[in-house]
Amino acid sequence: MTRNSTDVVPFNVPYTTGRELEYLATVLKSGMWVGGGPFTQRCEHHLEQTLGLRRSLLTTSCSDALELAALLLDIRPGDEVIVPSFTFVSTANAFALRGATIRFADSYADNPNIDPESVRRLITPRTRCICVVHYAGVACDMDAIMELANAQDIAVVEDAAQAIDAQYRGVPLGTIGRFGAISFHGTKNIAAGEGGALLINRPEDVLRAEIMREKGTNRSAFVRGEVDKYGWVDLGSSFIPSELIAAVLLAQLEALNDIQALRLDIWQRYHAAFADLEQAARIRRPNIPDYATNNAHMYYLICASEDERNALMDHLKELNVKATFHYTPLHNSTYQLRFGVEPEMPNAERFHACLVRLPLFAAMTPEQVARVIDGVRSFFAAR
Ligand SMILES: *Cc1c(COP(=O)(O)O)cnc(C)c1O
Repeated sequence: MTRNSTDVVPFNVPYTTGRELEYLATVLKSGMWVGGGPFTQRCEHHLEQTLGLRRSLLTTSCSDALELAALLLDIRPGDEVIVPSFTFVSTANAFALRGATIRFADSYADNPNIDPESVRRLITPRTRCICVVHYAGVACDMDAIMELANAQDIAVVEDAAQAIDAQYRGVPLGTIGRFGAISFHGTKNIAAGEGGALLINRPEDVLRAEIMREKGTNRSAFVRGEVDKYGWVDLGSSFIPSELIAAVLLAQLEALNDIQALRLDIWQRYHAAFADLEQAARIRRPNIPDYATNNAHMYYLICASEDERNALMDHLKELNVKATFHYTPLHNSTYQLRFGVEPEMPNAERFHACLVRLPLFAAMTPEQVARVIDGVRSFFAAR
């Protein structure tokens, strides 16, 4: 059973549904290339229908959707915003750009998500926002987070970048806090190269969000015929993607169920293949709490030590299998020094040191999956 090959098993390959070219051609021929046209609207309707959502706004990225959320919350210097340390920089940047003081919370011991107990200890009278991250598309404990936030009128933003098609107690992620942000970056389940969406869960936020996405103008209301001229009415920036992006995105969104079925199948195969390694306490597999669903965004293993994780990655590299680690905790970053807080975060640090992500993409062949599984198993068999 040697499946070694000189062919590389890539970490990620974008999936094409077959309709992207057709939709792109429609946009190119129509002359309507700028954002806000029919494809943008169809993508937004699709998200609103599938998520049971008030309003969604396509954005140029999830980072931009988070920045839009920070603008909408009027975050300003002196405000404190709590984010997990184990996350992508964009979660913190969105609020740091508005001058907020960023406070970092630790992960659970058995799950990279933010630990509400760690959040509780960081809350002060200046806390304006908690931005949670549903790591690997697995829900945070939203009841606990919302309870902490509601006790003190703190806004909750969900960085649902990885969390399309995932739920918390039956409710789609991104629709529980005041705002949610999804990513359609090329590495996510549904990809448009670059792209994102802001999910707006309160009717009173819709109009201002449209204005801020359109450079602070009321152009959206003008296009709908609600006002007879448009102008500068608020802060804002250019957060709306072009119709070319929306064309690719619509093709992807329409294939959501197919893409998810393919990803879930691969995820399950990994999970079954590594059950005995977990039982033997060689590794830990992803832990999905009862309140969360699995959207197969990511498959990862937690090794016993950083050395073992690095050795496993080297072994996979020799077999031409691309595996990768993940975030450097933000509380250990150079930039966090300006916030003057550097407590220990043992869980975030352990996930940084011991977590390895395995290749997972919808177009992965059974042979590629088998090569990854064999690669991991042969590493532990030889130790
Ligand atoms: C991918 C990702 C982002 C950034 O998404 P972009 O669309 O690339 O801006 C932000 N937060 C998390 C948790 C992500 O995984």
